[in-house]
Amino acid sequence: MSDLRELYQQLILDHNKNPRNFRVLDPADRFAEGYNPLCGDKVQIYLQLHGDRINDIGFQGSGCAISKASASLMTETIKGKTLGETETHFKNFQAMLTDPSSNLDLDQMGKLFVFAGVRDYPTRIKCATLSWHALRAAIENVQTPITTERDNS
Ligand code: ZN
Repeated sequence: MSDLRELYQQLILDHNKNPRNFRVLDPADRFAEGYNPLCGDKVQIYLQLHGDRINDIGFQGSGCAISKASASLMTETIKGKTLGETETHFKNFQAMLTDPSSNLDLDQMGKLFVFAGVRDYPTRIKCATLSWHALRAAIENVQTPITTERDNS
């Protein structure tokens, strides 16, 4: 298991160092900002939609390795997906981090599974989920920045 952990850590560090889709989309159909005051993580999400499909996604931001790597892997995962598929990924990701009893389809989780270990570090869970909350805000066209310390629903 420790080898696997090391592999996961390397993947997280790689995505932190070389984040994928780390760019502003201009023009963007949707934009949202997220902030995690507990850690100081900030993320901006840009979307280009085609019907109910996410044609392209970009992000900007600053923060810890987990928040940046999570945003990077999220963009990789959901690019080209429908909004329905994206919502499923969001729910699976959140369940993986917050619900130990959740029954996850690991094949479906794909690379997102590298964040499973974050469950053991409760203060970092919000670092990992921040970009997903911002993505959802972008999809729902929320105009004000969201924070992890307030219920935005
Ligand atoms: Zn963080």
